[in-house]
Amino acid sequence: MLSKTHITLGMASALLLTRPETVPGVITAIAGGALGGWVVDVDAQNKIRRKHKHRVREAAWIKALCGGFFGAVLILDGLVGDGMCRYVADHWSLPVGAGLLAFLLLLLVGSRTEHRSFTHSLPGMALFCGAVWFGCRPAAVPFLIGYASHVAADLFNVRGVQLLFPLRWFPSLKLCRADGRANQILFWVTLGLSAILAAVLIGTAPAPAHA
Ligand SMILES: [Zn+2]
Repeated sequence: MLSKTHITLGMASALLLTRPETVPGVITAIAGGALGGWVVDVDAQNKIRRKHKHRVREAAWIKALCGGFFGAVLILDGLVGDGMCRYVADHWSLPVGAGLLAFLLLLLVGSRTEHRSFTHSLPGMALFCGAVWFGCRPAAVPFLIGYASHVAADLFNVRGVQLLFPLRWFPSLKLCRADGRANQILFWVTLGLSAILAAVLIGTAPAPAHA
C-alpha cells in the first residue's frame, strides 16, 4: 500500500475511533492518525532509491505533498490553540523533550532499516508510540491507531511484515499488492470518510468560550 493511502487510512481510523468533541481534538486526531500511518514506511525510502529509480521523482512529489500537509496541520493546530503545540509549550519538561528527541532518533534509525522490518513490528510500534506518549500525550492515541492501521493493512499484502522483529517471521494474508486497485479504492474511500468525519465532528463541536 502506498504512503498516501496509509495516511488517509490512519486519519479515518483515528477520527472514527476517537470521535473528538472539540476542534483542537479533531486536528490532533488528523495529525496523530496521519503521522502514525505515514511514519511506518520511513523504512521504504532506500528501497525506492535502489530498486525503482524511475519512482524517485514521484516519491519526491509525494514527500513534498506530505510535508506540506503536516506543516499545514501543525500551523492550524497552533492557530486554533489548545492542541498539540499548546500542550508541548505548557508541559515543556525533560520527559517531553526526551520523547520528542527519541521520536527523531527512531525516525533516523527506522529510515536505515530493511523495509517492512523494525518499523513494521510490534516492538517498533511500542517504541514509537512510547516516544509520542512522552513527547505529545494528546496525539498518542490517534498516533497508535494510525500506526496499528498501517501494520494491519500491510498484513494483507503479498509480502508480509516482520511483526515480531528481530524474529525472521513475516506473516502475510497474501490478499493484495502494494500499488494495486485495492490501494486506489481504499485511498479514495478513506480520504472521503476522513473529510466527512472531520466536517461532522467540527460541525457538532461546541463554540470556543471567549474570555
Ligand atoms: Zn508499510
